[in-house]
Amino acid sequence: LPVLAVVGRPNVGKSTLVNRILGRRQAVVEDKPGVTRDRVSYPAEWAGRNFTLVDTGGWEVDVLGIDARVAEQAEVAISLADAVLFVVDATVGPTATDERVVRLLRKSGKPVVLCANKVDGPRVEADATELWSLGLGQPHPVSALHGRGTGDLLDAAMAALPKVSQHGSAIPAGGPRRVALVGRPNVGKSSLLNKIIGAERVVVDDVAGTTRDPVDELVQLKGKTWWFVDTAGIRRRVHQSQGADFYASLRTQAAIEKSEVAVVLLDASTKLTEQDTRVISQAIDAGRAIVLAFNKWDLMDEDRRPFLEREIEQDLVQVQWAPRVNLSAKTGWHAERLVPAIERALASWETRIPTGRLNAFLGELVAAHPHPLRGGKQPRILFATQASTSPPRFVIFASGFLEAGYRRFIERRLREDFGFEGTPIEISVRVRE
Ligand code: GDP
Repeated sequence: LPVLAVVGRPNVGKSTLVNRILGRRQAVVEDKPGVTRDRVSYPAEWAGRNFTLVDTGGWEVDVLGIDARVAEQAEVAISLADAVLFVVDATVGPTATDERVVRLLRKSGKPVVLCANKVDGPRVEADATELWSLGLGQPHPVSALHGRGTGDLLDAAMAALPKVSQHGSAIPAGGPRRVALVGRPNVGKSSLLNKIIGAERVVVDDVAGTTRDPVDELVQLKGKTWWFVDTAGIRRRVHQSQGADFYASLRTQAAIEKSEVAVVLLDASTKLTEQDTRVISQAIDAGRAIVLAFNKWDLMDEDRRPFLEREIEQDLVQVQWAPRVNLSAKTGWHAERLVPAIERALASWETRIPTGRLNAFLGELVAAHPHPLRGGKQPRILFATQASTSPPRFVIFASGFLEAGYRRFIERRLREDFGFEGTPIEISVRVRE
């Protein structure tokens, strides 16, 4: 999905705007300073179009060196976005920090929609006009608080947002596979990267038809070139504060969006954390192939084994289908198992089931396990097709709505029959009379 990032300095009302865009039902953002957000990206919809909304507001917890931080935040968000919603406080006017972000926006060449926020009345509306001076085109006067003007703003954002994410479409066919090495701070990402790259590093400068970010690294492993995205983000040690955590999360999101497969690194020697499951959710929501790598296995104590097994069962239930590799970035133990696991996940991610086979499979399944009766009626499955790969998306046409439980049952059986190790799959149902 195309990505729309909301960028702006603290206190311009980004959170309020994000809540407006997401609507009351989805709003999970607490608009309070010092509160770190759970997520940075949200599924959003406007005028029938689906997109991913990236919220950079969680950064406001870090008030140290705000100017540099805002620029850094903006830089990551811009690199990740297909279009940027730049929020300025119309009652204050453009500040030096705003100007700095404007320069970054210009340099990026990405579409920008300028939001003049806090326009709660006609007097401020005049102030909003002054924002033409930023050179970003028309300022859209908005009161995120009261909802005024947000519809027009979103219309403009939809017009600026490409239909297909540049990140997805920029992946060249036959080019190197893009891998995001992700995980919470200190799980060993940079250690693993060094282990992998240290072993068989080959500098490949020009891969035909690709533009490579300087933060990415091309690595040759077993005769095949792999493209590790945003390795600079892994190498740069960010100081530990709430703000830094949020920054790491944003960076993770950016890396995932740019890749085909996410290798989620976990620390096997300590309890899995909420941050771990959050990273996994980010990869699932983005629809990427996923490999789980349990690092620090050299520290694994036999007493911990059963606890880890239980944590995997309970906390990682959403991703039971992902291949798991136990390894040690420190000693290099089992590091060679990573690439085969990545290859398996990518193969599943790109699997296409011929329509005939899919319908034969569903026909048998439904005959043996019909959908439960609902109101005396039985929703019938009429036809199914795989609408896309990467990840596999299925559309089932049925005579009535299929219950979520039944869809999960179909997913489980699809996985049993066709594998799909390491890929999320999506099933949607269209009701036909
Ligand atoms: P990052 O923040 O995810 O990049 O994590 P680092 O690679 O910086 O590693 C964090 C700490 O864990 C460092 O002290 C590493 O030396 C240590 N570490 C990483 N991998 C392993 C491992 O496999 N075994 C052990 N014992 N320590 C590890």
